[in-house]
Amino acid sequence: MSGTTVVQVPRDLQVRFPDRCIECGLPECHSGVPVWGFGNKWRRFFFWWWLGKRYKVEIPACELCGPRIRRARTLRDWMRYVVPISASLLWIRIASALGLPSNMFAIFGVFLLVLIIMEWQFTRRPHCVDIDIANERVSFEFRDTAFARDFVHLNQEPETD
Ligand SMILES: [Zn+2]
Repeated sequence: MSGTTVVQVPRDLQVRFPDRCIECGLPECHSGVPVWGFGNKWRRFFFWWWLGKRYKVEIPACELCGPRIRRARTLRDWMRYVVPISASLLWIRIASALGLPSNMFAIFGVFLLVLIIMEWQFTRRPHCVDIDIANERVSFEFRDTAFARDFVHLNQEPETD
């Protein structure tokens, strides 16, 4: 996780966020953007529809950043499926044209490779916040260190990683 700050809080804690936009820092932001945590990244990828929305918070964002954050998150969630599946389908066409292997292993290999490259790219450009759940604790991974520090202050849980 490049350049992010992870803060852990108990899952049942009613978290409070600094009163400013998480993206641009504009003060007094009242519109919240809902963000869900699903457990770890891979579990989220394969089982999100099954596990359901496990943990939800509303992050503060200004009127300009709010819709942008929402769009960026939705886009990534879709890209996780659409891009690897499209690459696999494309592989079937290329492989049959060039006489390369197009069995299940090759197709799944292409799928996995594209997925891993994409996740790596996403990690290099993290969201303003990502949420993971482990046991009874929730990890908030903030891109903005100052925001993370204020979040720790507000929630009185000085355990940071
Ligand atoms: Zn903003």
